[in-house]
Amino acid sequence: MLSQDSNLMLEINDLHASIEDKEILTGVNLEVRSGEIHAVMGRNGSGKSTLSKVIAGHPAYVVTSGTVKFNGENLLEMEPEERARIGIFLGFQYPVEIPGVSNLEFLRVATNSRRKELGKEELDTFEFEELVKERLSVVQMNPAFLDRSVNEGFSGGEKKRNEILQMALLEPSISILDETDSGLDIDALRIVASGVNQLSTRTTATILITHYQRLLNEITPDFVHVMAEGAIVKTGGQELAIELENRGYEWIEENIKKINL
Ligand code: ADP
Ligand code: MG
Repeated sequence: MLSQDSNLMLEINDLHASIEDKEILTGVNLEVRSGEIHAVMGRNGSGKSTLSKVIAGHPAYVVTSGTVKFNGENLLEMEPEERARIGIFLGFQYPVEIPGVSNLEFLRVATNSRRKELGKEELDTFEFEELVKERLSVVQMNPAFLDRSVNEGFSGGEKKRNEILQMALLEPSISILDETDSGLDIDALRIVASGVNQLSTRTTATILITHYQRLLNEITPDFVHVMAEGAIVKTGGQELAIELENRGYEWIEENIKKINL
């Protein structure tokens, strides 16, 4: 069947998900097209990270109903590795440290797995070092970080830069960046934002999960969504982010209560 909207990349329909029998996502609806940047905002505990992890296929979360499609395919049937391979990238709110695993080798294995999917040749150690050196400039990262264990002892800002470096190497179709701005000083924030901007093209899409409007001064979203109690309850443009910065989240929650009465 021909898709009616060939730009439609991610399609989430009435998604419900639980952890340990507690329902966290309570009916998320979201459509993301190629070329778009979406911001997802909302209070702590509203379900933003859960949404990103369910999209990426984190095994701890159980999808109880609803659908998630990626380029028309049922994402929920795929293993997390397969989702990564077909171009879904999740930048974690809290990137994990992997002691004993060299960052360079970790990046090479992940990159080759993705390149295979893209029909590109796999790179040996020397070829990969060339590529990585070129991509390091996207995040202005010191090559010394390649020789260390993945994220081990990296500062918050260095971990976030390393996430963007991964993104630069993996060339994902859709990147979900969970609070990539948290814990960054203004210089690091600009570097990370500039990396994301350099990597956003007409054929990619980005979902930025963020608490603060300040990241959205550096990266202009096409849509701003607000999550509350496990669902997207309001969608607008850049102006919505500014309104949230000025008014907080309460007025939105009051409006929802009125509607639900
Ligand atoms: P956000 O990213 O918007 O701050 P989260 O998705 O992290 O929100 O959390 C949403 C809700 O789900 C919170 O109430 C949180 O306590 C709960 N939650 C998330 N992960 C777990 C877990 N592993 N076990 C129990 N509760 C969880
Ligand atoms: Mg979170």
